[in-house]
Formats: sequence, structure tokens, C-alpha cells
Amino acid sequence: MNDIIYSSTRGAAEKLTASQAILKGLASDGGLFVPDHIPALDKSLEELSRMDYAQVAYEVMKLFLTDYTEDELKACIKAAYDEKFDTEEIAPLAEAADAYFLELYHGATIAFKDMALSILPHLMTTAARKNNVNNEIVILTATSGDTGKAALAGFASVPGTKIIVFYPKDGVSPIQKQQMVTQKGDNTFVVGINGNFDNAQSGVKALFANEELASWMSENKMQFSSANSINIGRLVPQIVYYVYAYTRLLKEERIRDKEYINVTVPTGNFGNILAAYYAKLMGLPIAKLICASNENKVLYDFFKSGTYDRNREFILTSSPSMDILISSNLERLIYHICSNDPNKCRSLMELLSRTGRYDISDEMQQKLEMFEGGFCDEDTTLKTIAGIYKSCGYLIDTHTAVAAGVYKSYRNRTGDQTPTVIASTASPYKFTGSVLRAIDPGYVSDDDFDKADRLFELSGVPIPSAVTDIRTAPILHKTICEVDEMEAVVRDFLSK
Ligand SMILES: *Cc1c(COP(=O)(O)O)cnc(C)c1O
Repeated sequence: MNDIIYSSTRGAAEKLTASQAILKGLASDGGLFVPDHIPALDKSLEELSRMDYAQVAYEVMKLFLTDYTEDELKACIKAAYDEKFDTEEIAPLAEAADAYFLELYHGATIAFKDMALSILPHLMTTAARKNNVNNEIVILTATSGDTGKAALAGFASVPGTKIIVFYPKDGVSPIQKQQMVTQKGDNTFVVGINGNFDNAQSGVKALFANEELASWMSENKMQFSSANSINIGRLVPQIVYYVYAYTRLLKEERIRDKEYINVTVPTGNFGNILAAYYAKLMGLPIAKLICASNENKVLYDFFKSGTYDRNREFILTSSPSMDILISSNLERLIYHICSNDPNKCRSLMELLSRTGRYDISDEMQQKLEMFEGGFCDEDTTLKTIAGIYKSCGYLIDTHTAVAAGVYKSYRNRTGDQTPTVIASTASPYKFTGSVLRAIDPGYVSDDDFDKADRLFELSGVPIPSAVTDIRTAPILHKTICEVDEMEAVVRDFLSK
């Protein structure tokens, strides 16, 4: 048996199986769970190219989630990747502007978070059963907009679970907000905070680390878990679509077997691109991992200089799901490039929380060769949407446009002609205001649903049901709180 054991990026003592790590979310010392090794793909790319999404998902996930039985894992996959997606391909590829756009937004909430959050509740309830956990699982989540709704959609009305979502009150798009505050389900609770995403995320991390709260929870037969991308159960399902994308290109003879591709990912918390890195380590032929940031370009600066420095102005952009200065999942990459040394990783993360910055050694930086950082400003983002729409008739959202803009300048600068997959992370209908500003700047309306109609008129791309469904839905969640009230709000909801 080649079982994978998970331990913290900050300490080696805690050793868990995959299902235990998924249940727990975050390690006791505040670190993230990492596998003790990255397994290699055990089917050839050619074999995988003959499989559908669910089959590829099984072949990839079984290698990481080694304590799930075949039946358990297949049942989770089957429950996740079904009619909730509006295409049987689950993650189709579209060719435009010298790249392949991997459309990860065909799920229930029209953003790529659905790819993992449609399966996480099943992985988690299966994990509870396997580990004889009878406590109620309380999902605690901070969202920059898309995770919240995708997690709510995944966990709503799932027996044995409750879900609490904190979002920055003024930091999400109108459609994102409407999606969350209209969420149905007795076990759901949505709270706006006076603060930005980093405040929400730090607040949630503090609640996880609050021992008094944890013992109160366990007295009341409850325990926390996380649906944020720090949960290894989010990361593993995201590896799947990179393998799937490669094998579709192979099947359609757009690439030869074992030919290298590049991957460009619009990045915020570093989860999606870390999944691509894991796919590469598993043996998928990926040359460059192009990490695209918006004007909050902390990752661009990091890849360029080897210094991570969050001490800077937080900028609200048209790609709000990437408005992040503390990219949580980068901690996993740091752990791997310091040769899986948790002590070294911990000291860097302590520096980050104490001073807001840290430097990596030259030796560590050399291991980042396959990463290419880039960023795209607001003006270029909108021009990229307009340019691709006009030249190819293909419509992308602002987040995807950041990636497309970064890729274009990378390609122009380097002349690198390697076939490239761009992770397309949201439907243009999730960010109608900005997308319209790009392609129809003369149009004015202060109603996001009217904007959706206009976008349909212009583009002919059908309005997804995720948008039409919330148009007239009643607002069910009105709580707003300060960051230092988060604990009280949580206790209050859980006491009901
Ligand atoms: C979450 C999100 C991102 C950023 O993904 P990370 O995994 O946090 O890097 C990019 N685009 C959209 C639309 C998102 O919802």
C-alpha cells in the first residue's frame, strides 16, 4: 500500500489520513495539510484521453485520497458532477486568441469554485462516517465572493452540517451578494463584515484557532471544518481539470502525446494554480505555470524578487475574487520549496503574521523556475475583454481577462509558442457591470439584471439560470457585523 499521510506545513507531529485532514480543514498549529509525497499518475495520458470527466476525476483523486474506498470515492464523484453542470463535458475548452480557455464555470454558481465545492460536502460527510464522527460539522468560510455561494450551494440542507459564510460587505459584486443573501436552507447563515477579504479570512482563522470556542462546540456536539481553499479536499478536485484539459487537447489532436503545454491561472488565494503545480508534479507535461494577478500584485512581486510583502494598499478591482494580499495556499508551495521542512516554513509564516513580509533563500527561489508571474491593470483588463470579444466573438469575465492579458504580454515578450490553457474562472454573467463597461461603455443602468439582459442582447450567450433564479428571490440574510464581533455572531447562530 502506498497510503498518503497528511501533515501540517508548520509541524510534523500531526499525521492524518486524507479523510481526517478533510474533516479537520486546518492543522492544529494553524498550518495547512500537505501530502507526504505527490503521487504519479498511474494511467497513461492516452488512456485518460478516452475517459470522461468523472472517470478522470476518479483516476486523479484516488491517488491522493487513499483511505476512501473505490465505492465511496465514485459515489462522491457521481453526486458532484451531474446535472448541476449545464454541460456533460463539465469543463469544456474553447479556442480563442491563441489560447485554449478551460471553462470552469458551468456549475451551479457559475464560477470555478463549483468544481471543488460540488464534491467537498460529499467527501466531508463520507469522511465523518468513516471516522465515526457524530458531531455536527460546522463549515466556517470567508469569501471574496465566489467561494461563499459555491459552498452554500454545496452544503445547503446537507444533513449533519451547518454552514456560516462571512463576506466583505462592500467587496463583492452585486450579483455575488444577491446570490449569497438569497440562499435558502435552514442550516445556512450569511454575514457581511465591515472589512475586506483579508480581514474576513484572518477572522475565520482566529475562530478556528480559538480553543475556548472549540470546547464549547464539542460540549454541544459540533465541530468546525473549512470549505476554504486551504482544505485539501478543495485542492485535490482542482487537479482533475488540468489533467482533463490536457487529455482533451490530446484527444482532439491539438497536441501530441507528452507535448508540453503552459497553463495560465488568474490567481488570488493561490489554490487554483497550486492544483496545476501538483498536476505537473504528478507527471502532467506542463512547462510554465503563469500566475496572473490583478493590481493587488503581491504574487508578481514575490516571483520576481523572492520577497513576499503584504504591506501595501489593498485595491478594490473589477476582479474582486482576486483582491487578496495574503495568498493562503502559497504556504503549501513554500513548504515544498523548502524541501518539506515544516520548521523553516513555520518561521516564514510567523514572520508574515508578525511583520507582513518574508524573504526566501536563493536556493528556494531556484525551485520556482517553472513559475512566471504577471499582472494586469484595470484598463488592460477591460481592453482584453473588448479585444477578444471583437476579434473572436468570445466573451470572458474580468478574472479570466486578467489571465488573458498577462498571457498575451508573456507571449509577446518571450515569443513562447507553447500551446497554452487559460483557466477561465467565472461566467461573464457574474460580473456583468464590468464586462459591459468593456464591450458597451455607452450603456448605463444601475440594475445588474438589466445589464445581464443587455449582455445577452449583444452577445447572444444565454443568461445562466444561476442569474435568472436569484432575480426576484427574497433576501433571507441581513446580518452585518464588525470583525471583532464574528465570534459572538457564530455562537449566537449555533445556539439557535
Ligand atoms: C476564487 C477565484 C479566483 C482565484 O482563485 P484562487 O484559487 O484563490 O487563486 C479567480 N477567479 C475567480 C472567478 C474566483 O472565484
